[in-house]
Parts: sequence; structure tokens; C-alpha cells
Amino acid sequence: MTMRSLPIRVRLTILYSIMFASVAVLLSVTSWCMLRRAIDASAHQDLQERVDDVRKQLREFDSSPADATFQQRFDDIYHFRDDGKWLQILDQNGGWVYRSDRMADLNASLVLPQALPSRGQTTDFKRGTRQIRAFSAAIDVDGRSYSVEVGASMNKQLILLRQFGIGLWILTPLVLCAAVVAGHAMSRKALEPIAAMALEARRISDKNLDQRLQVPPADDEIAHLSVTLNSMLARIDAGFRGMREFTANASHELRTPLARLRTEVDIALMRPRSAAEYENTLEHIQEVAEEMTGLTETLLSLARAETRSEPLELAPVDVWKLIQAVHQEWTPVAKHLMLTLQTERLGAEQASSSDSLWVAADRPALLRLLRILLDNACKFTPPGGAVFIIATQTRSEVILAVKDSGIGIPKDQHHRIFERFYRVSGDRTEQRSGSGLGLSLAAWIAEQHGTAIQLSSAPGAGSCFEICLHSIRNESVPLANPVKQPSQTSRAFSRRTS
Ligand code: ADP
Repeated sequence: MTMRSLPIRVRLTILYSIMFASVAVLLSVTSWCMLRRAIDASAHQDLQERVDDVRKQLREFDSSPADATFQQRFDDIYHFRDDGKWLQILDQNGGWVYRSDRMADLNASLVLPQALPSRGQTTDFKRGTRQIRAFSAAIDVDGRSYSVEVGASMNKQLILLRQFGIGLWILTPLVLCAAVVAGHAMSRKALEPIAAMALEARRISDKNLDQRLQVPPADDEIAHLSVTLNSMLARIDAGFRGMREFTANASHELRTPLARLRTEVDIALMRPRSAAEYENTLEHIQEVAEEMTGLTETLLSLARAETRSEPLELAPVDVWKLIQAVHQEWTPVAKHLMLTLQTERLGAEQASSSDSLWVAADRPALLRLLRILLDNACKFTPPGGAVFIIATQTRSEVILAVKDSGIGIPKDQHHRIFERFYRVSGDRTEQRSGSGLGLSLAAWIAEQHGTAIQLSSAPGAGSCFEICLHSIRNESVPLANPVKQPSQTSRAFSRRTS
């Protein structure tokens, strides 16, 4: 099991504990070393003072007339003193000036003053239960050199150091335990706001998606997380609302033709009718059924577009050929509505109207888009008017336009007409059939081609819907798959047309 697989609270506890424990161990070791150094320094100072004391005595002995030997005279002074217990003095010729009983018993050697280092030398040795620290130094008294060795028992200091060490050994595990407890408490404290946020988030369901998480006043990571989650909730909320609206609107749209169907049937069944009357009713029913089929197909396409389960495949499409086919398909409709329907090709002088015009597109989707635009153009152009399908070739693009001389669209409605189920208000369109879904599907198709529909229109001045497609040299050019984001082409197009 790796550290990453552990819950964050455990990981934090471990990290805090390791941190506290390391600090505790470091502090213990450092303080033990410092105490040891202080003891060493104090012992050294004490021994140094003893050497100075011996120098003073030797100077005094030299200046005062005396009959006793140095051994006798040192014995008189140091015999009962603690600092005389471990003392020996050697003169420059190697003769013993003084040796305490303990030093004599030990028969400790001492080098000549000339052989001793100038700062003296320290040695440790054990005598029974005693740990002795000895310090030898060379001293000069009135032109004569002596080696002096003094010693002192270190037992008291060592006991002090040991007791301190034992204290630390007991204290360190206790500090470790405290570190684990403190680490756990700190990680709990640190994660508390997240736990509270999780609790709050758990209360939000599809029933109360309008609720938001509380954002703490501090500008920290928790506040950023709350803001991010809140914006995510807002998006989900908008999506849910859109879905509900879509379902409600779709049901509403289907209800009208269904009611018409029922009325037709009810009237037909009220009394026996002639064959011609039945035929007439059936024709009406067929009309309504076709309308409903168109509506459900559009709804299905929009639903698929929403879930992206119908990805578009871009392939080379001869858009001029497509325009001709659409022109042929819609000429009878236009004639029936007393409109003229024309195709026009602009931009490439050298190209004849029989030449191909290759673009990267999904043929069925592009056909659908053209049909939607043509259906609207025919619906919203009064008899006697004209509808044009225009292809304009530029260096790298083909601009496809459906233009009409119809009733036009007020400027403030230009954006709204691409919304689902939106129809321009007012009685001007009420007689015309439609669900308000066509343009939203057309906009999605354009988006899938990496472009957007551009509209120029004004009331009474007709409308022109344009899309800009990426032009390719011929049908053999390999293509990347559907363009999900508006390409540079479409951005350039938007700039040019805005
Ligand atoms: P539908 O045509 O089914 O109502 P659309 O989404 O295709 O739905 O169009 C939305 C609205 O935009 C239409 O109801 C109409 O008011 C307006 N509209 C679309 N095309 C035109 C046009 N060529 N001329 C005038 N108004 C139009």
C-alpha cells in the first residue's frame, strides 16, 4: 500500500507526526550534546585552575627559604585537599617534584615539559568505580619548566549527564505519542471545512439545484473550491432547467397536432360520410402526421446533438451540386407559394456554373441546414417574393447564403431566434406552421462545422442567413474529423461580417 492510497486524514496525521517526532529527536540530541560540551568545558576550566594553583605554589616555594623537600611541602598543602588527590609534577630533567599517593599507586607516566603540547593534553581513565579526567600542561616558573598533571573525578558530571539522557529517552516516546495525537487533531481541524462542505453538498439534489454552498470569507483554497463547485452547480442547474423546458415545450408542441388529429377523427365519426369526405379527412390526417414526423425528427436530432451521440463526419462535399439538388427539390414548393427560387454563384470569375465547389462538410447535415433555411425563407416571404441560394467562393472559404425578400426579423430578435422553441412574437407568424426548433438545429450543425450562422435582416427588408465553410481543392483531400470548436476560419468570418 503506497502513501497515496491512504486517506488524506491518515496521510496528514503521519506527516504531522513525522514532523513533530523529528523536531523532538533533534531537540533531545542537541540539548544532550550541549550539556555534555558544557560539562567538558567546566571540567577543563577546573583542571586549568588547579594547574595555575600549582604554578603559584612553585613560585612561592622558590622565593621562600625552606629546608623541607618539595614532596613534603606539597603534601602539607594538598594532602587533605580534593584537588591534591590526583596530582603529579615532573621537572625538566625528569625528576619527580611531587606525586600524590593515588598517582604513585597508579604509577601514571608523565612526559617531560618540552614534549607536552602548548595547550596541554587531556586523558580519561577509570580507577575502580571512578572515571578520572586528567589534564597535563607544561608550566614555567622562574626559568625552570615543569610538567604538571592534575586529575578530577567526573562521576558527578557523568551521573548528571546520564540522568538527563534517561529523562530524554522517557520523554521522547511521550512526545512521539503527543505528536500522533496532535497530528490527528490538526488534520481533523484542517479537513473540517471540507467535511462541512461535503455535508452541505450532500443536501443538494435535483430537487433543490438552486441552492449553493457557503463560500468562507477567507480567500483560500477552500473558498476557491466552494466557488468552483458553485459554478458547477449553476451549470448543472441550467442544464436541468433547459432539459425540463425542452420536455415541456416538446410536449406542448406535440399536443397541438394531436388535438387536431382527434378533432378531425371526432368530426368524421359524428355521422356516416361519403367516400370523398373520408378521403378528405384522411388527407388532413396525413398532413398532420407528416408535420408530427418532421417535429419528432427535429426533436430527436436536437436530443442527439445535446448528448453528442451523433458525431458529424466531415468529408469533401461538392456544395454547388448540393445547391442544385436543393434547388430542384424546393422549386415546386416555391412555385406553389408563388415565389421565385434562384441559385447564384459569386466570387470565382473563371469558374463556370458547372464547376464543382468542394468544401469540408457532413453532407446530410449540410442538406438539413439548407432545408431549414429554405423552409423559413419560403414560409416568411409573401407571395411574389424571391428566395436566393448563393455560393460565394473566396481564396480559402465558400460562403453559403440563403437570402429572401420576406418580412425580415427585428434586430433585437436576431439572437433569440436561434434559441429552441423561440418564434418571433406577434400575429405575423401565427398563421405559419413551425415549432421554433429549426434554427437551433441549424446553429448546432454550423457549430459542428467550426462555424456560426450569420444573420443580416431588418423588418420588411428580407433576411440573409450565411455560413462560411472551409474550402478544399478537390474531393481527394484527406480531412480531419468534425471541428468541435469554432475554427480560425469562422472567427475571421465573424469579424468580417460583424
Ligand atoms: P420555425 O420556423 O419552426 O418557427 P425556426 O427556429 O426555424 O422555427 O425559426 C425561429 C423563428 O425565426 C421563426 O418562427 C421566425 O419568427 C423567425 N425566422 C426564421 N427565419 C426567418 C426568415 N427567413 N424571415 C423571417 N423570420 C424568420
